[in-house]
Amino acid sequence: MKLNCVSCGHAVDLRNSYDHYEGQVKCFACGTLLSIRTEDGQVRSVAYASSTPQISNSATQQATADFA
Ligand SMILES: [Zn+2]
Repeated sequence: MKLNCVSCGHAVDLRNSYDHYEGQVKCFACGTLLSIRTEDGQVRSVAYASSTPQISNSATQQATADFA
């Protein structure tokens, strides 16, 4: 099974163990973290994973609190 990276368009090759999968995979072409959902060996959704922005947001809030 393959899915297209939303960042670079590379066809990321997934093994058969991803036939029923919901979670994150990393595009090995550009390194973008993708949040995917598959069902019956079909790709249902592909999106950017949001974990990295959440981490930077909390770091920014903490820095603001320290500054105040
Ligand atoms: Zn990519």
